[in-house]
Amino acid sequence: MKIAILPGDGIGTEIMAEAVKVLQVLDLDFTLETALVGGAAYEAHGHPLPDSTLNLAKAADAVLFGAVGDWKYDKLDRPLRPEQAILGLRKHLGLFANFRPAICYEQLTHASSLKPELVAGLDILLIRELTGDIYFGQPRGRRVAVDGHFPGAEEAFDTMRYSKPEIERIAHVAFQAARRRSGGQGGKVTSVDKANVLETFQFWRDVVTEVHAQYPDVALDHMYVDNAAMQLVKAPKAFDVVVTGNMFGDILSDEAAMLTGSIGMLPSASLDKANKGLYEPSHGSAPDIAGKGVANPLATILSAAMMLRYTLNQVEAADRIESAVSTVLSAGLRTGDIWSEGTQRVGTREMGDAVVVALSGKTITTRTSDITKS
Ligand code: NAD
Repeated sequence: MKIAILPGDGIGTEIMAEAVKVLQVLDLDFTLETALVGGAAYEAHGHPLPDSTLNLAKAADAVLFGAVGDWKYDKLDRPLRPEQAILGLRKHLGLFANFRPAICYEQLTHASSLKPELVAGLDILLIRELTGDIYFGQPRGRRVAVDGHFPGAEEAFDTMRYSKPEIERIAHVAFQAARRRSGGQGGKVTSVDKANVLETFQFWRDVVTEVHAQYPDVALDHMYVDNAAMQLVKAPKAFDVVVTGNMFGDILSDEAAMLTGSIGMLPSASLDKANKGLYEPSHGSAPDIAGKGVANPLATILSAAMMLRYTLNQVEAADRIESAVSTVLSAGLRTGDIWSEGTQRVGTREMGDAVVVALSGKTITTRTSDITKS
């Protein structure tokens, strides 16, 4: 098994170091090969996704990705900005389904901005379509940008588009995920759209309904995106699997992330039709805390666990990592983003070390010297 390791920018390198450490102690037979991506790749090769990185990702069985981006690249032409590397990887690897589980660990119930009773035991799965929608509509590239902006322009536009096969395949993924999560007992899919205003999403609703006929055991309901945004904070546990388009998914997945207390806890997977995938934390490169050694590495470590489970078929190893994370939380260790009174504040490296210790079954002890305070 070959895993491409793409740390990226900002906290990407810090959190990836911890995930790699965890993978290395599992004693599994795989090779890890690292390459530059995002702003780091732009600095070295003049492009956020150089051919060498793309070829490594294509040749690998799975890709573990950190995060990319920094405000300093905001002036670059859009195709050269770090974030384009993610879009390029999704496109070239045929990744169309983004899985974002939002699970509220019992130990972190109080870290959520919602009342504990609303999030205790929360376990929902948001599935975002990745290849269509307004992010890939036409016309692109007809605008003439200067430093990424449009001085003197009277309008700017992007078009929203979905094809029937794109909606069908993501609907199948959602119904199958609901079935799997419920242990064959049915489950529920909520399809989120804006069918009352947008033609694209009336079409989305029609196609999802059509595909649903093949999954009579799974319940389906449709919800407008504005209502979904409201229900996610009002009664999040009422959801099971949520499926939606690229842009609504982008926004709702961050909202769902915050239900669990911190975006620093949430892994994600982007899969192709053969379950090859790119795995990454749900958060970005966090330039505000980069280099301080305080970022939460657990989302990346849990992304590595998802990679073992979904693509590399190492379910037992995935279970071991997830249970080690739970052990570390039970021991009271917290990075700043999930810290609360009575728990022990630790840095990125200590959190990674603690997961490694938990994997070995030893008792967790910590030191706090590697937190650099700014
Ligand atoms: P962000 O997710 O990087 O940060 C949002 C907030 O969450 C910040 O306050 C940050 O400190 C905090 N945060 C994020 N991850 C954390 C972690 N692991 N531990 C503790 N705190 C954490 O989003 P942003 O600030 O909007 O964007 C920063 C840069 O990241 C931008 O350049 C953006 O384009 C890029 N970005 C990249 C990805 C990606 O690589 N997939 C995703 C989103 C944003």
